[in-house]
Amino acid sequence: MKETLYSLDIGDFERLLTVIQSHFELYGPTVRDSAVVYEKVETTRDLPQGWVDDQAPGRYRLEKTDSPLFFGHVVGPQSWKKYLFPAREQLWSVKKESAQVKRSANPQKPMAFLGVRSCELAAIEVQDKVFSHGTQPDAFYHRRRNDLFIVAVNCTTSSRNCFCTSMNSGPKCNGNFDLALTEVLDGAIHRIVVEVKSKRAQDLIAPLHLKTPSPAEIAAAQHAVEENAKTMARSFSTEGLKESLQNSPDHPRWNKIAERCLDCANCTMVCPTCFCSSTVDTTDLTGDNAERWRQWDSCFNLEFSYIHGGEIRKSTASRYRQWLTHKLANWWDQFGTSGCVGCGRCISWCPVGIDLTEEATAIQEGQE
Ligand code: SF4
Ligand code: SF4
Repeated sequence: MKETLYSLDIGDFERLLTVIQSHFELYGPTVRDSAVVYEKVETTRDLPQGWVDDQAPGRYRLEKTDSPLFFGHVVGPQSWKKYLFPAREQLWSVKKESAQVKRSANPQKPMAFLGVRSCELAAIEVQDKVFSHGTQPDAFYHRRRNDLFIVAVNCTTSSRNCFCTSMNSGPKCNGNFDLALTEVLDGAIHRIVVEVKSKRAQDLIAPLHLKTPSPAEIAAAQHAVEENAKTMARSFSTEGLKESLQNSPDHPRWNKIAERCLDCANCTMVCPTCFCSSTVDTTDLTGDNAERWRQWDSCFNLEFSYIHGGEIRKSTASRYRQWLTHKLANWWDQFGTSGCVGCGRCISWCPVGIDLTEEATAIQEGQE
């Protein structure tokens, strides 16, 4: 479909949210417990207007400013996988009396995500490869993903931990989305330039009779995203990285990292691409009802590598090596893509500030 652009004022934006909600359950960024998290949103008042975040290794702080921007923050501790691949999900249940197995269903209306950043679009595509495109597609994921409506946001700011430009995943949104928003602030004038990518998005917004943006608005939106790309603080060279990591299983740096790593698994929980899970069977006290649940797991957990007789990866060094090598190297062999999209979450939310770009670079350069 030919790209179409529109310009929204704040009233139009409110009407856009209303029209999306007439067809979808709408989720977007909001502030809770001093962080930007993804929750159900109903109006623009639910969005983190004026909030900005300060991120560094092991650091995440939110600050309220006078800015009218709704998307002046970047990514927080949660990612969209919480909806597409929930942290805990019932797969089926069975009753002894009927011996009938009931597959769990997706009860909700189709979902719409508001505020999906370019790195998050890339992360969803990575998870699509894992859950939808393999030989064993996951029916739960597949159904939710097929119905999904995506309102992306082009980032006009980045945190000190973002490195999407190094991973070719941003800050401009490419790939699969329905609408992409770019906020433009010119003095007191705040507008949102909207790119329409899909036919269903065009049909959805047609009743709103939105205005065409002026050439100045289009140029300002482009400039804001390009400037963000140019000024992104963190960069990371991935040239030769796959081979370096795959050829360095005994590098002394792994033990050095293990002196700091707490095996807390935070990095895998916040990562938008990590997909490991375990299945747990439960029964109630009567023994008449049984359930099977799937829940997120992590390669940082000792039991994760258990095969009869014991765990394969007993040391912290071996578990960190597994995570980093899988993410940045072996993922290419498995899925034809990197497992990292440069969102920086694992750096911000590591309690001891371990920085994967620093560690991977050290191994690549042979530093101890
Ligand atoms: S490895 Fe870290 S920076 Fe890369 S996608 Fe996962 S959380 Fe983001
Ligand atoms: S690298 Fe950091 S976040 Fe990941 S397990 Fe170790 S201490 Fe936790």
